[in-house]
Amino acid sequence: MILFDFQYERARSLAEAATLLASLGPDARVMAGGTDLLPNMRTEIARPAALVGLGGITAAEPQVDAEDNIRIDALTRLAAIADSPLIRKRQPMLAEAARAVASNQIRQMGTLGGNLCQDTRCLYLNQQHDFQFVAPCYKRAGSCCYPFPQNKPDVCWSVYMSDIAPALIALEAEISIVGESGMRRLPLEQLYSGNGLKPFTLGKNEVIEAVIVPATPARSGYGYHKSSRRGGLEFATSVIAVALRLDDALMRCTQARIVIGAVREQPIRAEAAEKALVGHEVGAAAYDAAAAAVHEIKPLPHHGFTKSFIVDNLRVYLRRVLAHAVERARASGMVA
Ligand SMILES: Cc1cc2nc3c(=O)[nH]c(=O)nc-3n(C[C@H](O)[C@H](O)[C@H](O)COP(=O)(O)OP(=O)(O)OC[C@H]3O[C@@H](n4cnc5c(N)ncnc54)[C@H](O)[C@@H]3O)c2cc1C
Ligand code: SF4
Repeated sequence: MILFDFQYERARSLAEAATLLASLGPDARVMAGGTDLLPNMRTEIARPAALVGLGGITAAEPQVDAEDNIRIDALTRLAAIADSPLIRKRQPMLAEAARAVASNQIRQMGTLGGNLCQDTRCLYLNQQHDFQFVAPCYKRAGSCCYPFPQNKPDVCWSVYMSDIAPALIALEAEISIVGESGMRRLPLEQLYSGNGLKPFTLGKNEVIEAVIVPATPARSGYGYHKSSRRGGLEFATSVIAVALRLDDALMRCTQARIVIGAVREQPIRAEAAEKALVGHEVGAAAYDAAAAAVHEIKPLPHHGFTKSFIVDNLRVYLRRVLAHAVERARASGMVA
């Protein structure tokens, strides 16, 4: 399949990438590993007039900053995150989430920034329209929405599928963003708009420069689970990421962040499930109450899975993930 023509410029730094984006106009995009963008260009979901390549910029090694946060360059390859001794020791959930992405080949090319900014997906959107009997939908400036025909032109229920974003949101990560006028920081949670047509709140000429993950306090534990059809090279059916903290006696939950991914236009905090846990003694009753609360998420049926299947999937796995997180928090509390 031959790609359409586009201009290509190579950036020597992320600041230069932001400047190039501004000079190349509204139809320019950055390309990091290209593992999401190039397939989208092949199916013409994306038709940038110009690409700013980031492949010539060397990613800094993950490091601990003066406030004890881990700072990870947005250009870090996913394989490097999964294998990093620092990340595996200090933030094992992030290493686990990076390893859950696709295949080794894709993890060797795909970057952290590209993973967080990957486009939303939909069975109807992700098709080549030349040979499929599918007219362009709203997300491609068309006049229909096949799976949800009642949707208005400004509503798209394509699903955001990153395996890593839910883990980072559970860990309270922030992103550092570089634009023409300088740098800004943003809680990662606020990168997502909840609108499938324009899923990110980044400005047109802004680029993610780094992800900053705060240190995990004592008596904390995590749980992560990605469900997928084949367990291997496959986008998720659902992702569950939990970060929680126990009290001094290791009996009560004092803090919990439960984030569900791959079921809506953005990663979603399961706030009712968090409330069912925080302040309560941990154990089967608390896990059941939290798991029962996941109906609040209102998952979108997607990629062949019905809404009721996804709700059942979340109920079963959230319970298990919570039990793992509590075991880990207890183990860390006993070591300390
Ligand atoms: C077969 C296949 C299976 C996959 N399976 C999974 C999976 O299981 N889980 C999963 O999470 N993903 C999956 N992906 C998606 C993708 O490969 C990864 O998310 C990858 O991390 C994307 O990173 P990249 O560097 O290749 O991004 P690119 O393709 O280079 O870019 C993706 C988007 O992000 C933007 N972008 C890139 N870097 C930045 C930055 N620093 N700041 C701002 N915007 C930026 C680009 O402009 C583009 O819009 C899969 C892809 C394929 C082809
Ligand atoms: S949900 Fe969005 S991407 Fe899917 S067909 Fe409808 S408008 Fe297109």
